[in-house]
Amino acid sequence: MSDSLTAMGDSVRDADPSARDAAGEAAERRTASSIEMRGLHKRFGRDTVALDGVDLTIEAGEFFTLLGPSGCGKTTLLRILAGLEDANDGSLTIGGKEVTEVPPHRRSVNTVFQSYALFPHLSVRENLAFGLKMRGVSAAEREAKVNQIASFIKLGDLVDRRIDQLSGGQRQRIALARALVCEPDVLLLDEPLSALDAGLRSQLQVELLRVQKRLGMTFVFVTHDQDEAMVMSDRIAVLNGGTIQQVGPPREVYERPANAFVARFMGHDNLYPVSARDGNRLTTELGVLEAEEGGTGDLLLIRPETLDLKVGHVDGVNHLPGRITERLYRGSHAEYRLEIGTSSLQATVNNRGRHLPDVGDEVTLVVAPEDLVTLSE
Ligand code: ATP
Repeated sequence: MSDSLTAMGDSVRDADPSARDAAGEAAERRTASSIEMRGLHKRFGRDTVALDGVDLTIEAGEFFTLLGPSGCGKTTLLRILAGLEDANDGSLTIGGKEVTEVPPHRRSVNTVFQSYALFPHLSVRENLAFGLKMRGVSAAEREAKVNQIASFIKLGDLVDRRIDQLSGGQRQRIALARALVCEPDVLLLDEPLSALDAGLRSQLQVELLRVQKRLGMTFVFVTHDQDEAMVMSDRIAVLNGGTIQQVGPPREVYERPANAFVARFMGHDNLYPVSARDGNRLTTELGVLEAEEGGTGDLLLIRPETLDLKVGHVDGVNHLPGRITERLYRGSHAEYRLEIGTSSLQATVNNRGRHLPDVGDEVTLVVAPEDLVTLSE
């Protein structure tokens, strides 16, 4: 939020007691929605270990993403948060209260499923009111809350349609509105956008992010798509085989992956074993490269977008002579595959309207020492 907006919000709260109450409520919600997981284990049957000792703190008001390949334990973790699955071991607190023994309907948590889980024969309005009715909210209050959320999510005239008269994207927005109308402290979202086409998906990503920031609710979002995770999240936890590999803001996870698994999962292919190390000078199959810090990892990561590409062969520190073997033109940028000796390497070059080298061209790749990172398998 900008400073002027914050100041405006503060002065309105100072003048208006109901705004003060609302601010108090929001602050209460913020503390009520932090999540602590300690030593969570989950087995299915004898052989399947879905979670193998998960320790994680999710701060109140965070957009937090669980990212990882199929079968890594994301959904199991989300289901344990919702109370739909019991952990075999470990503790879970929400808002400072141990909830391991608390049933799903007594937790201030709501879930948006990939399958929407809406009632197809009921109207949007009836779907939105359903959870409130189950909680014993009066008819008048139900109507007020449904109207409020419908205008917040900009549902317009969709509210009186039946679910089976809506498109996939519209159903997804209704599923979100239905989860929000009960005002949970924590919203869990299990791959909610994965069934949508690319255009609608990116539109809803932005919408979801705006809703989360405006409400200040804690969102725990599950996806296997690293681009989606980077766009949406305050922080990301990368999971593999039921264990957390790294937790951090998107830039940190992408630019400083904790290990080779995280690097590969974030889309990095340029990983080279370090065969010798002399201070900051690292020997790899590409040649000797100078890093800002020598590090201790036995793999060198070179991100494609940190490489500069010069036509012809030019000498210098961290200058690698190579030949272009593939070029994918993507409008805003071009993706190259290059041959350097017997190795191959990827480079991404922004299209600033200048000459874009082509397949067969001899070039020199240049990388700055501060862009070289070492990591371990
Ligand atoms: P996906 O992205 O494919 O949904 P995921 O990361 O969400 O995968 P989980 O659904 O949490 O993974 O599954 C973790 C592991 O636990 C997998 O090996 C899965 O086969 C197993 N598993 C999950 N639910 C059950 C179940 N009810 N019974 C037996 N095994 C299960």
